[in-house]
Amino acid sequence: MASHIVGYPRMGPKRELKFALESFWDAKSSAQDLEKVAADLRTSIWKQMAGAGIKYIPSNTFSYYDQVLDTTAMLGAVPPRYGWNGGEIGFDVYFSMARGNASVPAMEMTKWFDTNYHFIVPELGPDVNFSYASHKAVTEYKEAKALGVDTVPVLVGPVSYLLLSKPAKGVEKTFSLLSLLGKILPVYKEVISELKAAGASWIQFDEPTIVMDLDSHKLQAFTDAYSELESTLSGLNVLIETYFADIPAEAFKTLTSLKGVTAYGFDLVRGTKTLELIKSEFPKGKYLFAGVVDGRNIWANNLAASLSTLHELEGIAGKDKLVVSTSCSLLHTAVDLVNETKLDKEIKSWLAFAAQKVVEVNALAKAVAGEKDEAFFSANAAAQASRKSSPRVTNEAVQKAAAALKGSDHRRATNVSARLDAQQKKLNLPILPTTTIGSFPQTIELRRVRREYKAKKISEEDYVTAMKEEINKVVKLQEELDIDVLVHGEPERNDMVEYFGEQLSGFAFTVNGWVQSYGSRCVKPPIIYGDVSRPNPMTVFWSSAAQSMTSRPMKGMLTGPVTILNWSFVRNDQPRFETCYQIALAIKDEVEDLEKAGINVIQIDEAALREGLPLRKSEQAFYLDWAVHSFRITNCGVQDTTQIHTHMCYSNFNDIIHSIINMDADVITIENSRSDEKLLSVFREGVKYGAGIGPGVYDIHSPRIPSTEEIADRINKMLAVLEKNILWVNPDCGLKTRKYSEVKPALNNMVAAAKLLRTQL
Ligand code: GLN
Ligand code: ZN
Repeated sequence: MASHIVGYPRMGPKRELKFALESFWDAKSSAQDLEKVAADLRTSIWKQMAGAGIKYIPSNTFSYYDQVLDTTAMLGAVPPRYGWNGGEIGFDVYFSMARGNASVPAMEMTKWFDTNYHFIVPELGPDVNFSYASHKAVTEYKEAKALGVDTVPVLVGPVSYLLLSKPAKGVEKTFSLLSLLGKILPVYKEVISELKAAGASWIQFDEPTIVMDLDSHKLQAFTDAYSELESTLSGLNVLIETYFADIPAEAFKTLTSLKGVTAYGFDLVRGTKTLELIKSEFPKGKYLFAGVVDGRNIWANNLAASLSTLHELEGIAGKDKLVVSTSCSLLHTAVDLVNETKLDKEIKSWLAFAAQKVVEVNALAKAVAGEKDEAFFSANAAAQASRKSSPRVTNEAVQKAAAALKGSDHRRATNVSARLDAQQKKLNLPILPTTTIGSFPQTIELRRVRREYKAKKISEEDYVTAMKEEINKVVKLQEELDIDVLVHGEPERNDMVEYFGEQLSGFAFTVNGWVQSYGSRCVKPPIIYGDVSRPNPMTVFWSSAAQSMTSRPMKGMLTGPVTILNWSFVRNDQPRFETCYQIALAIKDEVEDLEKAGINVIQIDEAALREGLPLRKSEQAFYLDWAVHSFRITNCGVQDTTQIHTHMCYSNFNDIIHSIINMDADVITIENSRSDEKLLSVFREGVKYGAGIGPGVYDIHSPRIPSTEEIADRINKMLAVLEKNILWVNPDCGLKTRKYSEVKPALNNMVAAAKLLRTQL
């Protein structure tokens, strides 16, 4: 009985790669330094998996930035503006595509399916000259081999690569991305041939798009692609890995009929229908990679339950063709529980991070083979039982209050246009009001103060003084810049979810439970293990202090329930919506306390609402219904004159625009500039939006400073589709990752652009 891991986190147990990348980008270390850190990480991961007994160990799942960008490099599909002149793609061109450079913005970035991982979207047009321009997959395979580890090289599959791409500028309407299949396959063939020559006996293609609701034309592309590759692939065992949802029945048929393919990997954690398809239709003689260990959560596997599933599958695929695997790449979970020295012991016994999941996979494989590690299994069973019965998990009052919300409606009594009128009387804002999304740069000094306070090295008093000074600095800066609606800058927050989680009951925290979000950026999702409640106000102190420093409106700043849910590791012992309703009730209390404290504008960030959208269409309406309901619960109790803002880090919401309107916020600010104003097309197509809206006017993910003209130009584009009296002017997202040297001139130009246009309207 064999074991397999779909992919592994790259960042390292203590974010070693992050620090190496950032130091290289800041020119504080050399390319060789960076390469050394990366090679050490890869070595330790391969050795760890080999040591744990994993048979099919992946390679090429490491990346300096993103695996889709790696594929773009492999195919030589560099957009012309990055000035690549052929040859092997180096750090220069690679990181310019990822992050932009002094003269060119970065490529678009978007969320990887329904995760919080972001990939760099390939831009493809009819004129791309594909060529084999990055040998990374082969180099990594050889590197592992030299260490004595024979790996399964992993490639983003050709069809998923194209389906995740976007058409280049100018050909958006007319171009079929799949028409490029014939042009990219020759490069894939070169890579496959080199891997074979280097000694690979297996190859894995990640084709997660196949779980989406694809039409027959797109499904046909899979058939075409793998038929075309068949002869090159001959002699190799070929695994097509799918994940993140139940696979549709049609797609399952297509997948299991692909030529030249010998193995299929399925996510058996999300959804239950794939298992049924496997039971009734799995083809004879093929390998079944059964993803029973959850790659997207941190809970210890229920080994007894998995084992019984595996026994069933054994009867279908046969003992020698069943492989125990993870549900998806472990990229989406934390790295190693060993480094969690501060976690409560009982809670810790309920958890498994990537390193522990590797051990679980192997233990399951051995158990199926009749070599069950009884001690390991019984410790696991004891932990499962303790989690079920632990009193710290249950709070009956919360359960009751949340259950009462189901099936009812909550919304503000007055409609949005009447509310906006009442708010304008109070706030008296100019046309095209300017604001920011919340955070200001988090300086090293600021992080030091927070860290020292947490470690009890400085007193509460000193901490409060330092934070207030920082807030005052940010307030004064915004006044100087002449921004209309201010923020306090969020200096007291390490992270927009963790900050709230730390003050809510039912949450636990890790020290090193980092998960890659994009590039070098990682998040440390809290763990929701129990019923959620709010013992005390969480933000009122800081928001009131900030409001007292200015006569301009100060936005109260909260994270919404859906985002807290989507950016946490969520308990898997009750439905997600139940947990979400519990959080909504806690945030509702906070909103009402802010209002009582005299805060007239309250922003409830729902940055992650879109990313929780189930991938399968059949499940989306239900999710949107409870997610939007949860948001409305938070603010249904405020007065008309209190202006509720929300913010989303996602522009691709054409398909959910009606749900967004149904959130009934007074103002929404949305990421926009990195997606080429895709969002505006919704309004161009005639959707009426009556509330205030601020599509981001510049990209905060890049250090580049936009000019006044450029911003004015963007605003003008927005004015062409949105009425001037609902338009707000703001950056794409919070500024915490930027430097003041970037933020000051950028905001200055933003305000100048708004003022310029006010004179013209
Ligand atoms: N208010 C948060 C900030 O500005 C929002 C961040 C986000 O949307 N990701 O940092
Ligand atoms: Zn954002």
